[in-house]
Amino acid sequence: MFNALIVEKDDEGKSSAAVQEISEDRLPEGNVTVAVEYSTVNYKDGLCIGPGGGLVRNYPHVPGIDFAGTVETSDDDRYAPGDKVVLTGWRVGEMHWGGYAQKARVSADWLVPLPSGMTTRQAMAVGTAGFTAMLAVQALEDHGIKDGPVLVTGAAGGVGSVATAILAAKGHQVAGVTGRPETADYLKSLGATQIVAREEINETTKRPLETETWGGCVDAVGGAMLARVLGQMQYGASVAAVGLAGGAGLPATVIPFLLRGVNLLGIDSVMQPFAARERAWADIATTLPMDTLEAMIQPATLSDLPGLGSDILKGQVKGRVVVDVNA
Ligand code: NDP
Repeated sequence: MFNALIVEKDDEGKSSAAVQEISEDRLPEGNVTVAVEYSTVNYKDGLCIGPGGGLVRNYPHVPGIDFAGTVETSDDDRYAPGDKVVLTGWRVGEMHWGGYAQKARVSADWLVPLPSGMTTRQAMAVGTAGFTAMLAVQALEDHGIKDGPVLVTGAAGGVGSVATAILAAKGHQVAGVTGRPETADYLKSLGATQIVAREEINETTKRPLETETWGGCVDAVGGAMLARVLGQMQYGASVAAVGLAGGAGLPATVIPFLLRGVNLLGIDSVMQPFAARERAWADIATTLPMDTLEAMIQPATLSDLPGLGSDILKGQVKGRVVVDVNA
């Protein structure tokens, strides 16, 4: 028997989440069973825990789009009992039972070995948000980061915090956009050199092009903010679009693409092949200072999750919530 956060839907379509003790025979199919140690709270988890159910297709469901732990049993040559592993993406926690449980059963194809030099807790302090932040930074690097500050939107959130720390560790000037001025000291401790108030970038303008300012951008917000940022990019600079915390619409013109050669790079962390996941995790393990990562952690337990799921949807979570599923 083990503990899991189970989300159920009643006859009226209303879902509720509670920690339950369940037996191993209820785990879904898969060739590797993992004793989960840590999971995290991401924006998608908020959707899956919340009353609307969001991305969940079948109930009862165990959310948690990422986890790190130790292999218990394996029918796959790549993993043996005792191996430390990390999982992000592949619709785990959405279509397949996820990491908000003391055990998970998954396909070996979805796992990566724990990067050397990191603990399972540190790997989850990175988690899906941090892994995505690294994919975004690597996409910017692949297209060339220009001189001048790199903008990070939604900076105090999960993706934004890790992107800020990675870019600073790689030697870039980082400008963090936040709607929470009280997080300025926190963002500076992660390496931000400039804090930009959310209202400053959210203000609408009729000008499709403004002063060339940003040498690159990791955008977790989308919507009107992304549209405005496009017109502020330096010639030939790139924006890695990661999220839509501020809206899915894009009220932009084509002018920044035509007259400034701006690149808009879409980042999807879910379906990344093994080689790309390995590359990103290796870069994280060697680049991200572990003491900076520790400063982002907000510890939590399985029973804290319903409240935290609702907080993240309201944009109220700072940094990375790391869930100790055995606490
Ligand atoms: P968080 O909630 O931790 O961070 C989002 C941040 O965006 C908030 O902290 C807030 O930052 C800012 N924000 C929230 N609402 C608004 C708003 N209305 N207008 C402007 N800014 C806002 O979420 P994550 O960092 O985990 O995820 C961010 C986005 O990235 C989500 O949309 C998520 O779904 C997506 N994502 C995409 C992935 C992919 O593979 N493409 C993987 C992981 C996440 P502040 O208070 O500093 O302003």
